[in-house]
Amino acid sequence: MTIPDVSSPPAQPASTPSLTPLAFAPGDGIGPEIMAATLRILAAAGARIDPYEVAVGQQVYLGGVSSGVAPSAWDTLRQTGVLLKGPITTPQGGGYKSVNVTLRKALGLYANVRPARAYAPFVATHHPAMDLVIVRENEEDLYAGIEHRQTDEVYQCLKLVTRDGCERVVRYAFEYARAHGRRRVTAMTKDNIMKLTDGLFHRVFDEVAAEYPDLQADHMIVDIGAARLGARPETFDVIVTLNLYGDILSDIASEVSGSVGLGGSANIGASVAMFEAVHGSAPDLAGQDKANPSGLLNAAALMLTHIGQGEVAQRIQNAWLCALEDGLHTADVVGPHTVRQVGTQAFADAVIERL
Ligand code: NAD
Repeated sequence: MTIPDVSSPPAQPASTPSLTPLAFAPGDGIGPEIMAATLRILAAAGARIDPYEVAVGQQVYLGGVSSGVAPSAWDTLRQTGVLLKGPITTPQGGGYKSVNVTLRKALGLYANVRPARAYAPFVATHHPAMDLVIVRENEEDLYAGIEHRQTDEVYQCLKLVTRDGCERVVRYAFEYARAHGRRRVTAMTKDNIMKLTDGLFHRVFDEVAAEYPDLQADHMIVDIGAARLGARPETFDVIVTLNLYGDILSDIASEVSGSVGLGGSANIGASVAMFEAVHGSAPDLAGQDKANPSGLLNAAALMLTHIGQGEVAQRIQNAWLCALEDGLHTADVVGPHTVRQVGTQAFADAVIERL
């Protein structure tokens, strides 16, 4: 099965009424490989989608578009309202601004939902009972990208936190918990030190929590929260936190569940939603057919549920779990339960065979 030919996104995506138009961006590094694997699985599972490729990432930036998002991509994104995105490489310590941050900010994607659960005993983990969701504020905090040079030896970064931003994401976390049958929402902040910014987040959390008496609510200072998440992740349910803490905590959660290659995530806005793996572009694995496509596949399952195709998402997740259960594992999750180590595309084939 080949990926649908979607090389030139039309100005106005015209599609069969029963197919949901959506945008996809393969991304950088391992992105094109895991996107190909994921789209093959979606097609084989009968996902009723009409995907349009959009140009986003390093090549666009190197082609002279400083945002890293091709001008034509914005139209497609706004028309379809859904983006499945591969990971994007962002230079460290200099160079262009993160395309991910640009997309999240420009599209108003205020909540980043990152589930992390164990798939024991098929994927080895020390925490077989873990099943948590991190809801990360996605537009503000230190990721506003406002940095200044004071002198050659002193630089500053502005931490921006607004009541509206806190309220949107905290309310989303409580609504999510209620809708998904979860019982407890834990806020993590560092409000003992950042009394105004993190203090506002904590205060808003307490106010919103009072509106959800059916759910337990508690607060942890993020350093001990991170320590507990690493050591006892099964004690958490839903965690809501600021942007930077959420970014770090969700990588820890994903890795502790078995591999950073497993986690998928949803970036939710009022009119657009973007779905992506938790991990980055893993340049060390690019082009070698070694990467685990599961993070992007799990993100695609969240996307299918978002567009009303929950039954297709369920079929894919069952087949994916069967492949793991049968011991077909990419290198990152090889362990005692492995029967055969497989590459990216062979793993996708194994999922397709079990649909
Ligand atoms: P990374 O998540 O890309 O990779 C860290 C390591 O985890 C890799 O070296 C690899 O060994 C392993 N890994 C990651 N994904 C895997 C997969 N699917 N299968 C198997 N193993 C996997 O983190 P990094 O190396 O810090 O970042 C690389 C680039 O990705 C940077 O440019 C960074 O800015 C970018 N990034 C992008 C996103 C995004 O697009 N949302 C997120 C994080 C990092």
